[in-house]
Amino acid sequence: MAQPDSAEPHWLSDGFEHIWLPYAQMKTAQRPLPVVASSGSRLTLADGRVLIDGIASWWTACHGYNHPHIAEAVRAQLAQMPHVMFGGLAHEQAYRLAARLSALLPGDLERVFFTESGSVAVEVAMKMALQYWMNQGVCGRTKMLSFRGGYHGDTLATMAVCDPEEGMHTKFAGILAQHVIADLPIDDASLAALRAVLEQHHRSLAAILVEPRVQGAGGMVFHHDAVLRQLRALADEFGLLLIFDEIFTGFGRTGDLFACTGAGVLPDIVTLSKALTGGTLPLAATIARRHVFEAFWSDDGDAALMHGPTFMGNALACAAANASLDLFEREPRLAQVAAIETALMQGLAPCRHLPHVRDLRVKGAIGVVELDEGADLRAIQQALLARGVWVRPFRTIVYLTPAFTIAQDELATLTAAVVGALKA
Ligand SMILES: *Cc1c(COP(=O)(O)O)cnc(C)c1O
Repeated sequence: MAQPDSAEPHWLSDGFEHIWLPYAQMKTAQRPLPVVASSGSRLTLADGRVLIDGIASWWTACHGYNHPHIAEAVRAQLAQMPHVMFGGLAHEQAYRLAARLSALLPGDLERVFFTESGSVAVEVAMKMALQYWMNQGVCGRTKMLSFRGGYHGDTLATMAVCDPEEGMHTKFAGILAQHVIADLPIDDASLAALRAVLEQHHRSLAAILVEPRVQGAGGMVFHHDAVLRQLRALADEFGLLLIFDEIFTGFGRTGDLFACTGAGVLPDIVTLSKALTGGTLPLAATIARRHVFEAFWSDDGDAALMHGPTFMGNALACAAANASLDLFEREPRLAQVAAIETALMQGLAPCRHLPHVRDLRVKGAIGVVELDEGADLRAIQQALLARGVWVRPFRTIVYLTPAFTIAQDELATLTAAVVGALKA
């Protein structure tokens, strides 16, 4: 175990013996950095250092940290009513949020089911898709079709639809539900292969599940909107539902409010989470189109969707989400994303010619430098920290997903730090 440094706060030293960290081999894990305050795009550490945050806390803090409008909305809701159960009781924040999300999403994506995490939102989408067929008396549609390089969560059901080899879940292969995993149809060959898979398996499939535009945690791989149009056409041809997991792409990250809006493709079910509350409170949503909802509309109680998390529609989280939507309405977020895209392309361009760099790509407020296997990510992260920057590279990927409100000079510091760290 890494030795604590002497300046470490006592809560970290004492608590470290009792904490189980995410995605970490605890025996060799580096001590996490103690953060004592956040503001805008900056994190203040216990020793007084201030870091510029390049990833907005796993892509959530799209308005920067501590936005006063969200803070005020949560404070007011806390004083009035932090939480009431969602079964049998209703409150304004969740009902307003559902109506607003429906209005923002395209077409008849109009029925919102709230949960508390992205993984659970995906599980609910899968459950909706499976039961959609059961409720219509169609048997045997028990699987999802999902894609290599995909990531949809860490729970047992969602692990089974992640990339089977590259993912973090390989060792569970024998235990997980069996789904059909294909390559994204990015060219004629992969499209023909996908068609063959569908011809073979479509009777056992309930839905096609995809992260539109960007496969995020699987490796920050982009694809064109034409791929999504293909998937819509294939879903229609083979009579399958189409689920867009927009947990990463939702709320502006790729340059449009939602990837489905930008691509002009209407999926049957959408999942949202990450930036939904502007990075403040856990909340997720699964949104279904009318025809999906209608398959559950029945005089038969058994046709109901039997799901209901304890903290479903939490009022504090919904108040934060409503405040976050206010900011998308009032402030030029999508223009900010477009400006970030340009700055990322310019700022990261020098990476292209550095050793170990295999690819450089930018989409919206996502900048990705892909390295070859020889790169030492831990050394790169240390070099970034030395430059006053918080970034969390994974596998062969160093990426930036800053807050949309990041200042120009902060963004320039981020891109210069990436270039400098890769040089060093
Ligand atoms: C993060 C993520 C999830 C899982 O969300 P959690 O809140 O971590 O459970 C699912 N799908 C995508 C696309 C994600 O980016």
